Amino acid sequence: MSFFEIVDPRFGQFVLGNAPVKRIATGFDWVEGPVWFGDAGALLFSDIPNNRILRWTVEGISTYRSPSNYANGHTRDRQGRLISCEHGLRRVTRTEWDGSITVIADGYAGKRLNSPNDVIVGADGAIWFTDPHYGIKTDYEGYRAEQEVPCNVYRVDPSGQIEAVITDMACPNGLAFSPDETTLYVADTGRMHEPDPQHIMAFDMSSGRPRNGRIFHTIAPGCADGIRVDSVGNLWSSAADGVHCISPQGGLMGKILVPELVSNLCFGGRAKHQLFITATTSVYSVILNRKGVQWP
Ligand code: MG
Repeated sequence: MSFFEIVDPRFGQFVLGNAPVKRIATGFDWVEGPVWFGDAGALLFSDIPNNRILRWTVEGISTYRSPSNYANGHTRDRQGRLISCEHGLRRVTRTEWDGSITVIADGYAGKRLNSPNDVIVGADGAIWFTDPHYGIKTDYEGYRAEQEVPCNVYRVDPSGQIEAVITDMACPNGLAFSPDETTLYVADTGRMHEPDPQHIMAFDMSSGRPRNGRIFHTIAPGCADGIRVDSVGNLWSSAADGVHCISPQGGLMGKILVPELVSNLCFGGRAKHQLFITATTSVYSVILNRKGVQWP
């Protein structure tokens, strides 16, 4: 069987015919939030319903943090520190080099956030995160609770000031900047059904804020949850049948086929050419002929 589906012939150059899509860990309930620590040769990821962050290395799996406050998405800032979205305490945190936890955001306009889901850090040090309601709708991925604020996208200035920068999406979820940070992409998992399917929005960045939001690409079959960009600006998105590669112009270039529903992905490995894919009960990995945008 082939692990890849080529739609645009250029995608044939992005993948390696003899590099398999491998399941490197399994036995979880619902995994998300992969983040690569090259300095440790380790991948951290969240097993959300089991309230833990796990660590994968070539030696195997160990527990990084448990309980994790039902952590979901993670990233690293430009100083290499772990930034985490926590459903359970409805906040975004930074893990300092000494292991202490700093709260980046836990409310907006005097109300509690919903359940921060995914996070990125810009070159200016601002922390951007999405806040859909998935972690408070049931007790499966957090604690069931009333929603106090809309499902917004927030930007937290390095000074700590929080601002709602996108307020009109249904359920903003994964997010990513283009390599030059002139475009912000945000996936919307709130639109589940035709004729209003799941899509990725693109925004022009102007004076550090997103403007001119428009539908960039519709994911079919859906599950536009996690997204990442490679070094030349192709977008790699979760989908129901695997990972889709989308050109900077918005066209589907090809697919990496994965046998479980994919949630999130990240680049890592020795040359930032290894794609790690969290998919329902398992983590998959594949070496590509592409390099991801990944800091540090
Ligand atoms: Mg997500």
